[in-house]
Amino acid sequence: MVFDGEGIMKVAIIGAGLTGLVAANELKDYVQVKVFEAEEVGGLVSSYFNDSKGYHIEKFYHHCFKNDFELLRLLKELRLSSKLVWKTVKVGTAFDGKIFSLSTPFEILRYPYLNLKEKVKLAMFTIKSRRKNYETFDDESAIDGLKKEVGEALLSKFFMPLLNAKFGENAKDVSYAWLLARVAIRSNRKLKGEEIGYLRHGFWQIIEKLSEDIDIKKEKAKIEKSRGWVVNGEDFDAVVFTAPLNELKINLNLPEVRYQSSICALIALKNPISDVYWINSIGTTFGAVIEHTNFMPFEDYGENLLYLASYTTPNSEFFMKDDKEILKIFLSDLKNFGVRDEDIAWSKVFKAKYSGPIYERGYSKKITPYRVAKGFYIAGMTSKPNYPERSMNGSIKAGKEVAEKLKKDLELD
Ligand SMILES: Cc1cc2nc3c(=O)[nH]c(=O)nc-3n(C[C@H](O)[C@H](O)[C@H](O)COP(=O)(O)OP(=O)(O)OC[C@H]3O[C@@H](n4cnc5c(N)ncnc54)[C@H](O)[C@@H]3O)c2cc1C
Repeated sequence: MVFDGEGIMKVAIIGAGLTGLVAANELKDYVQVKVFEAEEVGGLVSSYFNDSKGYHIEKFYHHCFKNDFELLRLLKELRLSSKLVWKTVKVGTAFDGKIFSLSTPFEILRYPYLNLKEKVKLAMFTIKSRRKNYETFDDESAIDGLKKEVGEALLSKFFMPLLNAKFGENAKDVSYAWLLARVAIRSNRKLKGEEIGYLRHGFWQIIEKLSEDIDIKKEKAKIEKSRGWVVNGEDFDAVVFTAPLNELKINLNLPEVRYQSSICALIALKNPISDVYWINSIGTTFGAVIEHTNFMPFEDYGENLLYLASYTTPNSEFFMKDDKEILKIFLSDLKNFGVRDEDIAWSKVFKAKYSGPIYERGYSKKITPYRVAKGFYIAGMTSKPNYPERSMNGSIKAGKEVAEKLKKDLELD
C-alpha cells in the first residue's frame, strides 16, 4: 500500500467499464480504490439477462480476434480461457434484403455487383493496405484516399455503403488511416472464412469477475478540484477518468473529441434469416444484421438471436427517437429479409450515446495521454491502445497502462 501524510492514498475511478474495472484491479493492492458508475457496470460491454430463458447476451454485439493479446491474457488471469471459443463465421452483404455470402474467394468471385476488374482491384488494395504505414494517412479523408487508390466506382459501390453503415452521417469525415488499419485487421482471414472468438455464455463473465473485490458506487461522478480532487464530496489523492470526455465537466485543455452513438435492436426470431453471422446491409436503416446464433450454438439460448446495428450521432433525430419508433422503422426494413411480425418472439432496443470516437481526419493528435494534470488521469476509448479501433482489448490495455503510470507517479511523489 502507498501512504501519504494522512494514511493510505485514495484513488477515484470514474466509470466501471472494462478500462475502469481493469485499472481498479491493478491498483487495489497499492491504494484505496473507489469506482463511480453512473449507469451500468460493464459499460458498453454490459449484458441483458433474459429472465425467462436464463441467459445473458451483450446489449451490443461483441466478438474478439486472435491478436487481442491483452484480452486473452486477462481471460487467463481470470481463469476464463477455457470458455473462449473460436469459430469461422460467414460474412456477407445484403442489398434490400437479398443476402450474398462473401466469406470465401469463390463466393466473392460470384458476387454480381462488382465486375472482375473491380474484384481484382479490391483484392490488391486489401493486400497493399496490410503493408502501408497507416499513421501517415491520418490527415487524409478515407474518401480521398480511396478515390486515388481504387477509383470512384469501387468507392461508391463497395466502400461508401460500408463507411455509411459504420459512421452514418460522419462517414465523409473519417480518416484514411482508420480505413487502412481496419482493412488490415479485418482482411486477415483464412480461405474458408473469418475466424473470430467469443466467451461462451457471454462477456459479462469478465465483468463479474473484475467487479468481485471492488468498491463500486452506483453514482454519477461530479469532480471538483481542491487541494487534491473531490468526487461527490469525498477527497481523493488521484482520479482516473475512464468515461467519455464529454462527461468531463472540468477544464483540462483537452482537444475536443467527437463521438458517435450506437443503436442496436436485439431480436429473438423463431427461425434464422440465413446462415451468415455478419451481414452488411445496404439500403436499410440499420447498417448490419448480426445473427449471434449463427456464431454461438442455438442451444445456449433456446432461440435465434439477431442484432440490427446502426451508428449515428448523439444529437441526431434518429438517436432522439424513442425505442418504439426505432423498432418500428427497423422492423419495417427487416421485412425485406422475409421476416414477418409473427416470426418475432420479442425485441429490445439498446442505445449508447457515446459509443466510440469518430476517427476523423487528424484524430491521432487527439489521443489522450494518461496523465493530464497532477493527480488526474484519463484512460479509455481515447487512449492510444484504442486507436485506430476501439475494442475490449484496447480498453483492457489502457486500464493496465494507466494503473502502471499512476503507480510509478505515486512512488516518485
Ligand atoms: C455496438 C458496439 C459493438 C462493439 N463490438 C465490439 C466487438 O465486437 N469487439 C470488441 O472488442 N469491442 C467492441 N466494442 C467496443 C467495446 O465495447 C468498448 O471499446 C469497451 O467496452 C469500452 O470500455 P471502456 O471502459 O473504455 O468504456 P465504457 O464501456 O464506455 O465505460 C465507461 C463507463 O463510464 C460510465 N460513466 C459515464 N459518465 C460517468 C460519470 N459522470 N460518472 C460515473 N460513470 C460515468 C459509463 O456509464 C460507462 O459505464 C463495441 C462497442 C459497441 C458500442
